[in-house]
Amino acid sequence: MRQKLVAGNWKMNGSRASIKALLDGLKQGIAAVESAEVAVCAPYVYLGDVEQQLQGTPIVWGAQNLSTEASGAFTGEIAASMLQEFGCKYVIVGHSERRALYGEDDALVAKKYAVARAAGLKPILCVGEMLEDREAGTTEAVVARQLDALIDAEGVAALADGVIAYEPVWAIGTGKTASPEQAQEVHQFIRQRIAERDASVAEKVQILYGGSMNAGNAAELLAQSDIDGGLIGGASLKPDDFLTICRAAG
Ligand code: PEP
Repeated sequence: MRQKLVAGNWKMNGSRASIKALLDGLKQGIAAVESAEVAVCAPYVYLGDVEQQLQGTPIVWGAQNLSTEASGAFTGEIAASMLQEFGCKYVIVGHSERRALYGEDDALVAKKYAVARAAGLKPILCVGEMLEDREAGTTEAVVARQLDALIDAEGVAALADGVIAYEPVWAIGTGKTASPEQAQEVHQFIRQRIAERDASVAEKVQILYGGSMNAGNAAELLAQSDIDGGLIGGASLKPDDFLTICRAAG
């Protein structure tokens, strides 16, 4: 049985005050989450605050990006070792916003994934098709390309201790959610594709759904057999909604 994981992606939102209030709310409600792991991925500058506030609680934390470099003259970048120093367990790699707005390609994302793992972090690899891909019937081809780039570069075993987030780009921040059937279909495809390389890795890897998951639609999505949790943007900024999703995960 794969443990469910619900991870909040705060993106570039919040302030020290709002994050304190959000975490106070999560800490109050976390006892009602029975078996799912709960994580929050914060903006870099707040990781110290998050660490202080979450240490000793069941909630874990992570970052939203990292550098491929270990240290040196890379102005504005953040290394995996720095994230580790602030107690991060997870780091998101290849979010569609980074792919679309900052030109991150499959090869760079694979490198980030590898660097994160090497530092003992758990990367959350985001994959997903754009609306035009879905309309053109190329969803599986796009997701396969994104997945294969990692498997070809790092080997399928690299997925055994990582996490994949299937995030249809057309559903991110739009209020349009993939139906449970649409999501399950792609999750099953991803697991099957991994199984073609290594069945035990495919059985182990957690595949999260992301894209306008909210308090109202989470239960149905999370009930699908290949959906092992959620990567939550907007709803992760509202403690009650986020906790409702976490409870729906178990
Ligand atoms: C995301 O950014 O990963 C995401 C899923 O956002 P939202 O939940 O707001 O669609």
